[in-house]
Amino acid sequence: MDMTSMTAITAPLMGRVAIITGSTSGIGLGIARALAEAGADIVLNGLGDLGQIETTRSELAAATGVQVNYNGANLLDGADAAALVTDTINEFGKIDILVNNAGIQHVSPVEDFPVDKWNAIQALNLSASFHATRAAFGAMKSAGWGRIINLASVHGLIASPYKSAYVAAKHGVLGLTKTVGLEGAQFGVTCNAICPGYVWTPLVEGQIEDTAKARGISRDDVINNVLLAAQPTKRFVTVEELGAVSVFLCSESARSITGVALPVDGGWTSQ
Ligand code: NAD
Repeated sequence: MDMTSMTAITAPLMGRVAIITGSTSGIGLGIARALAEAGADIVLNGLGDLGQIETTRSELAAATGVQVNYNGANLLDGADAAALVTDTINEFGKIDILVNNAGIQHVSPVEDFPVDKWNAIQALNLSASFHATRAAFGAMKSAGWGRIINLASVHGLIASPYKSAYVAAKHGVLGLTKTVGLEGAQFGVTCNAICPGYVWTPLVEGQIEDTAKARGISRDDVINNVLLAAQPTKRFVTVEELGAVSVFLCSESARSITGVALPVDGGWTSQ
């Protein structure tokens, strides 16, 4: 086998530039790792301790040999979400892959739902994806190639009680995904949503206490009888599985897949 075919197999995304929002933790970091292992240069984004983020950045660069940058844009602000993309285009000369992953959750009965939490969830989980997509789309269209992946959720397809803001935002993400998929169809730009069931990350860990309080049950009851109750496989989805799905959606083989909502949910939404 010649070197070119070898590289196409081992590093299918070599030469691509990918932004993954919210990639200092959880699913975003898992996807960033998988894209880097597939050869793409990476822009990490997210909040957190700057020393820890630098350790993550340098370890990922050393392990994969790709360029890994960090951009600390706070995506609650639409202008910052757009600047994350324009900064990347200025640094790398292009943007090939945009993974809109950053998200937050808040669990509360609707009549008590804090208005500031509602607004923050719409801003980060829905509007930031619009602002980043808006900033990247022209460059992808001109290049004749692009991949946009939105991290929605099973809660983009169905609801659970006490998650009004999250469910509303994630349903909105699927609407954005379909529309952008149509607009990119003739330009080599695909836009798809991944709809995970429960993935073991800090976001899920953080909502266990809130759900326990809202329902008046124990932590173990939340894990076994609320979280995994709806997931027929009875195991959490892993960030590695979501990384592999993302690499596939970025591949040439996936060029006819656009505008879809792909559940990775252990059968949850089949019920
Ligand atoms: P997480 O809390 O582990 O990570 C969230 C990331 O977003 C972090 O890197 C954090 O720093 C970043 N972030 C938070 N606020 C930000 C801001 N204002 N600006 C920029 N970055 C910000 O969460 P996760 O579980 O990895 O979730 C990632 C995505 O997957 C979210 O959109 C979430 O809704 C979705 N999702 C998660 C699950 C799950 O079970 N964990 C299931 C379905 C969908």
